[in-house]
Amino acid sequence: MVPKEIIEEIKSHLDIVEVVSEYINLERVGRYYRALCPFHTETRPSFYVSPDLQRYKCFGCGASGDAIKFVQEMENISFYEALEKLARRVGIDISRYRSEGSEYLKYTSFLKELSREYEKAFWESDDAKNYMRDRGFSNEEIEEFEIGYSPVGSDIPKIVADRLGLSVDDISRFGVVSVSGENVKDIFEGRVVFPIKNESGDVIAFGGRVIGDEEPKYINSRDTKYFSKSRVLFLLDRAKKVIKSVDVAIIVEGYMDAFALHRSELRNSVAVLGTALTSQHASRLSGLTRNVVLAFDSDDAGAKAALRSLSTLLPRGFDILVVRWPQKDADDTLKSFGKEGIEEAIRNAVPYEEFVVENIAKSFDLSKASGLEKFARSIGEWASRIERFGSTVRARALIEKAAEFSGLSPKDMERFVRGEPLDYGETKKFGPEDVILFIFFNNEDLRSEILSIDRDLFSERFREILDSYEQEGDLNRALEKVSNEIGDWVFEVLKDLPHSGNPKKVLSDAVKRLEVAKLKKRLSEIDRMISDADESERRILLKARMDVVRKIKTLERGVNFGGRENGRKCYRSENRKKG
Ligand SMILES: [Zn+2]
Repeated sequence: MVPKEIIEEIKSHLDIVEVVSEYINLERVGRYYRALCPFHTETRPSFYVSPDLQRYKCFGCGASGDAIKFVQEMENISFYEALEKLARRVGIDISRYRSEGSEYLKYTSFLKELSREYEKAFWESDDAKNYMRDRGFSNEEIEEFEIGYSPVGSDIPKIVADRLGLSVDDISRFGVVSVSGENVKDIFEGRVVFPIKNESGDVIAFGGRVIGDEEPKYINSRDTKYFSKSRVLFLLDRAKKVIKSVDVAIIVEGYMDAFALHRSELRNSVAVLGTALTSQHASRLSGLTRNVVLAFDSDDAGAKAALRSLSTLLPRGFDILVVRWPQKDADDTLKSFGKEGIEEAIRNAVPYEEFVVENIAKSFDLSKASGLEKFARSIGEWASRIERFGSTVRARALIEKAAEFSGLSPKDMERFVRGEPLDYGETKKFGPEDVILFIFFNNEDLRSEILSIDRDLFSERFREILDSYEQEGDLNRALEKVSNEIGDWVFEVLKDLPHSGNPKKVLSDAVKRLEVAKLKKRLSEIDRMISDADESERRILLKARMDVVRKIKTLERGVNFGGRENGRKCYRSENRKKG
């Protein structure tokens, strides 16, 4: 136990603003400082630090405490470990209070020592040296990144454990060996190894790359108490300051890519390790910057990871650009085109909406109606997500880009995407029944719904088609049975009517439009009768008239009549056509 006076002494030398600032960007507001809370997801800051009280508090999630607690939470370490870290920084030695050695200290001193031994082994191995040199690394770069090597048959972990007085049991928890009986196996055997550090610069894990072609090419330490792939960002210990000062972070997929960017002097780069960006990653980054450049691999897996990462970043209010590498990834690009190639690719990064459209377009055949429909549905989902979290402007940009890909005008694309009915005000040629016919032929899944609609709403010719289909059970045979005139009508409709992104809604709107038409017909009948009626009949008719008007109002309220500002006008133009 550390005596209370010592803890107070350490705290008196600490400034909580300074401590917290090392992890997240604080903004001054009067007597307080505030930031986006690093402990929960938010887009508006509710995390406050009070220099007077030397405490922090989040009004969003309730997290609160002093500088020690903050470090403890951020680094996921014990109270003693956090205290020791902070004591070191104010020049107070508390090691004599260490009870039986803290787990964190054991862990990090073991891995630190292991890292040193791997480095030594690296410089003794021609295979390892040749391998990294072939990949374009200079000796200085190898030293800078503390790259090591675990020789085949390595017993380095055991040697280091013995030297530090750690048991096999201890190091079996540290994620770098597999133990069976007395046999301790180095999991990185035969691999070049890269130390993975936490934000304080302590080694907490390793990544290893085989020198040959065996699979898996890359492995990491197993997750431990202090290392979790879904939390750690590789090279964040080096990149943190730069990210804060340039206010943008570049995110790549793996070790070699992170190295490639740092070697190209883009030192605000970090890597996720074999995962998409997690919410923990995003929360961590949001304390440093709101601007992210996603620079994942240019293959399908990379694109998928980038899309998933976008979904994680957007709700947190990040602005995102996406890089398209001219080669598979940053590492290959550096190899083929040098630093200039890297710089150019980063410079040409595109707004995320452009990337989204490109990738969605790839998955569908846009020359087919069904492909276009699915494309529009996907675009629609992204557009509403972007609108919800980002901005209308970006959602619009997404739709404009989608229009480019689909060959539709941006206006048509937007209508298409939002599943709005077609603009009959403009294409007076087609009425609601035409739309239903179109859907009947193009949307198999809505066919039985259409067959169940009250046939009184339909014209003679449409009823004929539906009856014929019910008898034949096949569209083509049904068409052979109807007259040429009806066949021409079907052809006309299928040829000229555009597809909608939301046929279900368009169908229900069209049906309502037919219902309204029917009611209006009834209305004019009633009006005719009223003019000939006597006083008592008139009263009854007026009441019936009111009922019909009310029904029409209800229907019209629930339906978009195409022309946005004046549905009625469109409806009338429709009606006029039919005479
Ligand atoms: Zn919070």
